[in-house]
Amino acid sequence: MDWNLILIGPPGAGKGTQAVRLRDELGLVHLSTGDLLRDHMARATELGARVKRFMDSGRLVPDALVTELLLSELPASGFLLDGFPRTPAQADALAAADDVTAVVLLDVPDAAVIDRLAGRGREDDRAEIVAERLRVYHEQTEPLVDYYAALGLLRRVDGSGSTDEVFVAVLDALGAVPA
Ligand code: ADP
Repeated sequence: MDWNLILIGPPGAGKGTQAVRLRDELGLVHLSTGDLLRDHMARATELGARVKRFMDSGRLVPDALVTELLLSELPASGFLLDGFPRTPAQADALAAADDVTAVVLLDVPDAAVIDRLAGRGREDDRAEIVAERLRVYHEQTEPLVDYYAALGLLRRVDGSGSTDEVFVAVLDALGAVPA
C-alpha cells in the first residue's frame, strides 16, 4: 500500500532517526523541513538568510515560507514528512494539497527531550534554545494531536524506548509488517 505519512513529536523525539528507517522499510520519499531549511542556510541562499534568525532562536519559520518550500518538493504519493506540519495552518495547507494516510506521534516527556538534546551538539541544541523549542512545540504544534485525532489519523507511540523498540512500535501502530 502507498503511505502518505507524517511524524510529529517534540524536538529530540527521534523523528529524523525513525523517518530514515521508515523510508527504507516502506520505500517512501522522506522530506524533513528542518533538513531542507538547514540546507538552505548552509548554501547561504536567499531563503537561508531569511530563516536563520528564526531557527537560531528556536522559533518557527513563518508558515508561508516553510509551506511553499515543502509543497514544492512533495510527491503525489508515497511520502513521509518529518517536521511538517508544525502548526494547524500548515496542516490545512497540506490537506488542501494531498491526502494523509496516518500521523504517528512520537511521545517523549520534556525531561527526556532535554537529556537527549544536551548530547547532540547542534547549534540550536543549547539549553535555553531547547527550552524555547519545547515551549513552541507545546503551544503551536501540540494542537495537531487533537487535529489529527479528530480525523481518525493519529497513531500514538511511546518514543522513549530504544531506536529499535520505537521502530517496531511504529510499524505495529501502522499495521505495517516488517519486511
Ligand atoms: P527538531 O524536531 O529537533 O526541533 P527540526 O530539524 O525539525 O528539529 O527543526 C529545527 C528548526 O527548524 C525548528 O526549530 C524551526 O525553527 C525550523 N522548522 C522546521 N520545520 C518547520 C516547520 N514546519 N515550520 C516552521 N519552522 C520549522
